[in-house]
Amino acid sequence: MSDSPHRPLPAGLRPETLAVRAALPPSQHGENSEGLFLTTAYIQPDAETSAQKFSNSEDFTYSRTSNPTVRSLEARLAALEGTEAAIATSTGMSAILLLAMGTLKAGDHVVCSRSVFGSTINLFAKEFGKFGVETSFVSQTDLAEWQAAVRPTTRLFFAETPTNPLTEVCDIRALADLAHAAGALLAVDNTYSTPALQCPAALGADVVMHSATKYMDGQGRVMAGALCGSNALIRDVFGPTLRTVGMTLSPFNAWVVLKGLETLSLRMKAHSQQALAVARWLETRPEVARVYYPSLPSHPQHELAMRQQSGQGGAVLSFDVRAETPDAARAAAFHVINSTRVLSIATNLGDTKSIITHPATTSHGRLTEAQRQAAGVGQGLIRLSVGLEHVDDICDDLDRGLSTLHTR
Ligand SMILES: *Cc1c(COP(=O)(O)O)cnc(C)c1O
Repeated sequence: MSDSPHRPLPAGLRPETLAVRAALPPSQHGENSEGLFLTTAYIQPDAETSAQKFSNSEDFTYSRTSNPTVRSLEARLAALEGTEAAIATSTGMSAILLLAMGTLKAGDHVVCSRSVFGSTINLFAKEFGKFGVETSFVSQTDLAEWQAAVRPTTRLFFAETPTNPLTEVCDIRALADLAHAAGALLAVDNTYSTPALQCPAALGADVVMHSATKYMDGQGRVMAGALCGSNALIRDVFGPTLRTVGMTLSPFNAWVVLKGLETLSLRMKAHSQQALAVARWLETRPEVARVYYPSLPSHPQHELAMRQQSGQGGAVLSFDVRAETPDAARAAAFHVINSTRVLSIATNLGDTKSIITHPATTSHGRLTEAQRQAAGVGQGLIRLSVGLEHVDDICDDLDRGLSTLHTR
């Protein structure tokens, strides 16, 4: 007997609907908002049922393996990315750890963009280097470098697009073709665009990786991560590894992200509109040497980005303050940052609150000056994660520093 008022969803629903509706069926209570199941274990009616459930990883037995709230998040995320399955992890980095543990062994080789998130570079080069996995770091945008790096042992291509802080864009479909021709998988870090703007699986990526800490939660509350892909990868490869290794997402954090996904599409459209308005305004400022944002026609991969990202640029942009020397550039950037009264001075992104960051002394602070120059992260570079405050208040806050740069 079931009192659950649940009716299965019809096929063919659009992403905005799936973001609100895709989840496990409600419990016998018929809750309209998905339940938060804070439980580590699950009572079984008898020993026979218990034995049967332990032999089937789809059943609920212990929350390191699976939990209904986490399962709802996985169902919703897979629906949005257009993949057969998804698996949630405790952080974005643990999603990449799970990817590497599931797909690589000693002697294998990875090709990775050198512009990806800093900890991603450390995870492949340092942590997996210790276990005999070699990684070649190549240009974000030059496909010939990816091709030239391929070896007989290449198992994985890893890309992130657009990148932070310079918003460089790579061609996901072209990379998928190169990876597959080499007998490798393509994994794409889709943290910045989210499935609201870009679905890498539809362009040929085998695994889509997320730091759900960023725009999926979207309000700066919890850490979370995920991998999305085929049942053959998610259920048969990553599932058993996660069960053993335990980088499980907490049900509470899963629930927060699950509710965050309901407004993802609206937020990403608003973030993108606001960021474009700020980017255009910055381009008119004489104190600004250059603005990096994919929706600007001045962006080197503008057309590719607009094609790949549903015509939207996302929330992250960077700009260079004009200055003669690196020291003067750093002083000018610090002045602009310190003159804000509304924006948060922090090193994070993916929040309704706008965040202003100086990459050269924070996210890229441990690089040498030469490495920073090679990465294009100068002392005058400022990164913004454009939030949902009124756009005029964001520009006014930047103007406080920009308009007083030469009167200091
Ligand atoms: C933040 C971030 C990560 C790491 O995610 P955590 O949730 O902080 O572990 C990975 N990739 C990108 C692009 C990120 O911005």
